[in-house]
Amino acid sequence: MPTRERIRHDLAVRRTTVERVSWLTDTMVRVTVLGESLRGFSAPGPNDHVKLFFPDPESGVLTTPEITAEGLKRPTDGLILSRDFTPLNFRENGSNGLPELDIDFVIHGDDAPATSFASHAHAGQELGIAGPRGSKLVPEGISRAVLIADETALPAYTRWLRLLPPEVKVTPIVQIQDDETEDYLTDEHRSRGTLEVLYREDGPGQLIEAVRSLGSIEDDTYVWAAGEANELVEVRRHFRRDLGLSKDQVEVEGYWKRGIVNLDHHAPLDPSDPD
Ligand SMILES: Cc1cc2nc3c(=O)[nH]c(=O)nc-3n(C[C@H](O)[C@H](O)[C@H](O)COP(=O)(O)OP(=O)(O)OC[C@H]3O[C@@H](n4cnc5c(N)ncnc54)[C@H](O)[C@@H]3O)c2cc1C
Repeated sequence: MPTRERIRHDLAVRRTTVERVSWLTDTMVRVTVLGESLRGFSAPGPNDHVKLFFPDPESGVLTTPEITAEGLKRPTDGLILSRDFTPLNFRENGSNGLPELDIDFVIHGDDAPATSFASHAHAGQELGIAGPRGSKLVPEGISRAVLIADETALPAYTRWLRLLPPEVKVTPIVQIQDDETEDYLTDEHRSRGTLEVLYREDGPGQLIEAVRSLGSIEDDTYVWAAGEANELVEVRRHFRRDLGLSKDQVEVEGYWKRGIVNLDHHAPLDPSDPD
């Protein structure tokens, strides 16, 4: 059975500055932040995440929480706006020798804090970063990984590809909006296994169909899926209930949920069947 080692990190809240903004497609933008505060940043797990703190869109002022013995504490004044994101590329010695971090944002409108920040991001803006608090390393004892991701999970998918040992076979399935989003996918994303790309605009039901057509899953295969929470409920049921795989072998994470602001991804994906 696959096992994943867990590592705890000291909690840190880092204030960084936007260094560069690069549009990768019409709906995906890479924001590179820089700062001495990132020195020693570590995120060794493929699906590690950080909490980003955005400046108040009106005043431009960034308020970040304080660290206390109990964890992060909101200050009594100042607007705290935070969302979860994947730390994609970290360079200990980036521009001017300072540590740099890339974060890729999906742009899905203009009203929500993260998408609004990213779509208007410019050099010199502040961004707060907390975490990761813990890392789950790639599974040991596997010969294959099934990786399923939508746009929001493509940065994590990239990290899985980089961190899995080369001998582990990969079965990748990604679901994106349309062929324009496909420009995000590089040779690196297609470097391991035959990448199956599904377009959401082609209608519902394709993801679960693709998942069912994988057939049986061997004991030494690990399954990771992340994306829109509602769509993943059926996917999780298939692996956990229909195929009877244990939670040590399957991780399905809702990264966002249609109609829900700031989804709590620690809550059970399927409340009728919590782990
Ligand atoms: C562990 C983890 C890692 C993540 N990594 C990334 C990452 O690297 N890149 C990334 O882009 N996202 C990532 N996400 C997802 C991101 O946190 C959510 O999409 C978040 O809701 C965006 O915040 P927001 O302020 O833009 O929207 P919110 O204020 O949270 O939501 C406002 C509205 O927008 C909708 N919405 C939210 N996201 C989307 C979307 N992608 N498409 C369409 N509608 C949406 C919501 O359903 C809601 O109705 C990650 C989430 C988790 C839990």
